[in-house]
Amino acid sequence: MLVMLRPEQRWVCPNCTFTDVTHEAEPHTRFHACRGLKGLTAPMIPAGTRAKVEAVERGDYVGREHVQVDGDGRPVMAVNVTRDDGNDVAVYAPLAAAGRED
Ligand SMILES: [Zn+2]
Repeated sequence: MLVMLRPEQRWVCPNCTFTDVTHEAEPHTRFHACRGLKGLTAPMIPAGTRAKVEAVERGDYVGREHVQVDGDGRPVMAVNVTRDDGNDVAVYAPLAAAGRED
């Protein structure tokens, strides 16, 4: 008899009310379009974990790069996840504009 192990991971977001459940066996992080972070794609945290998820605004000039912006049009370079035992950073890598300048 084959017993399928179906792990269940519950996810919450400290910035909005969205919750989700995943059933992946491999380590993973659930992302969602967060209303609390003005629509940014933000990582969720495992239910029961204390963590802070914050957008990091981009300080330098954006120029012609296509960058992630939040719902107010502010360029955001990363989302920081700060936990009691460390922190993670989800970085939005800018895409250089392809093509000629003329
Ligand atoms: Zn959220």
